[in-house]
Parts: sequence; structure tokens; C-alpha cells
Amino acid sequence: MIALIKDSNIEYLKKYYNKDNIKDAIKRLNAGEPVQYIVGNVDFYGYELDVNKNVLIPRRETEELVEEVIKRSKNFNNPTIIDVGTGSGAIAISLSKELNCHIYASDISGAALKVAKKNICKTSSNVTLYKGNMLKPYIKNDIKVDILVSNPPYIDKTEKIEDIVKNNEPHLALYAKNKGLEFYESILKDASKILNDKFLIAFEIGQEQGEMVKKIALKYLSNIKVEIKKDLSLKNRFVFVYNF
Ligand code: GLN
Repeated sequence: MIALIKDSNIEYLKKYYNKDNIKDAIKRLNAGEPVQYIVGNVDFYGYELDVNKNVLIPRRETEELVEEVIKRSKNFNNPTIIDVGTGSGAIAISLSKELNCHIYASDISGAALKVAKKNICKTSSNVTLYKGNMLKPYIKNDIKVDILVSNPPYIDKTEKIEDIVKNNEPHLALYAKNKGLEFYESILKDASKILNDKFLIAFEIGQEQGEMVKKIALKYLSNIKVEIKKDLSLKNRFVFVYNF
């Protein structure tokens, strides 16, 4: 299995390196660095996006989140959409391109926003970036929202995660306090300040967090429906909160 993964990674490297400079890249691969950071990009929803150690490498599951949001956005007419904790900009950019619409996106990390900005330019997507924690930028700028999408940090510090993730990806984008629920709570607590009357909130979650995120949503928002949805590997991975 390991040999297979390595072979496919080497194939990936060959796309970007020639035989004179691939040696160094293979050394980094063998030292446990993700191939996406070595080549400096990743394919997300058909778009080639830059990544570096300041942003999480967008995951396949997050493509499923984007797909679900695209489907559910049909319930709205020209919705205002925000992506909270955008990182590389993957969610915001793919939504903007696929729906051919404007998206607001934010992150607390200036270094991540630099990567997002580059990706917005290289894909010519219609995304406005804000720097700030969770919903603060939207509250401050009085932006009223129909669809809120977020893949926030959700891993608890005590959770065992793969070395390749733990040793390379930004902990700021991975870990959250309070059983990994800190940022769902922060968003849901403030959500009513920015949401329009009819709304959709779409979260990526850790596989054990569905019921707990549902409970937090019901604590702060009334007359809502909450749907916990599985990803393709049948793990609870998304929560949708909506009122239509
Ligand atoms: N899904 C990522 C992982 O398993 C974590 C993403 C996140 O914390 N938002 O590493």
C-alpha cells in the first residue's frame, strides 16, 4: 500500500520536475512532506489552486460540501454567500466559478489570505476577501447573508491524527477547543446578526460531531431544520442548518 502511494506521488512530482531537480523533491516526499506542498498546488473541484504550509490542503470531502451547496443554492435567488475561514480560498473560488456569482470570504490568517488572493487572481474568480475572526468582518461591514459556508478547524487537541497532517499542516486551521466545537459555537452564536430571514448554513464537521453541532444550532437559532449528512466514505461529515 505504502509503495503504491509513493509511486503515485512520484508520478505527480514528475509533472512538475525534470530529472535534474526531482531528487530534492523526492527527498522531501520521503521526509514526510505532503506532495501538494512540494509541488505547491492541488486540484480542487477542477481548479488548480496554490497551496503552501500556511493553508490546509483542500480535501476531497470538501468538494462534496461545495457540491451540496451548489445544489441547495437553487432554493435562493441571487444569494449572498460567505465562506468563513477560507484558507486557500478553495470553497469560495469553486462556488464563485460554478455558480458564476460573487462570494465573500474571510480568514484570520494574513498568510492564508495571501494564498487565497493569488488563487482568486489565477482563477479570475469573483471573491472579496476580509481579514478577521469568524463572523466579525461580516458584522462589522453589515453584510446580510443567505448562505453561510464553513469548514472551520474542528479537531480536538487530544485526537490522534496522521503524522503527515500534524507535522505539516497549519495547526491554526486544524485544531479547535471544546471537543473541536469552538468555532461552530462561535459562528452559530453570532449567526442571527448576519443572516437574512431565509438562510442556509453549511458546515463540514468531524465524523463524531454531528449531534453536538445540531445541539448548538438548536440552542441559538429557532424554527430551523438540521440535517446531518454523510460523505462518500459514509462518515457523518456535513451539517446543514436551514429554515425553508
Ligand atoms: N478534514 C481535515 C482532516 O481530516 C481537517 C479539516 C478541518 O479541521 N477543518 O485533517
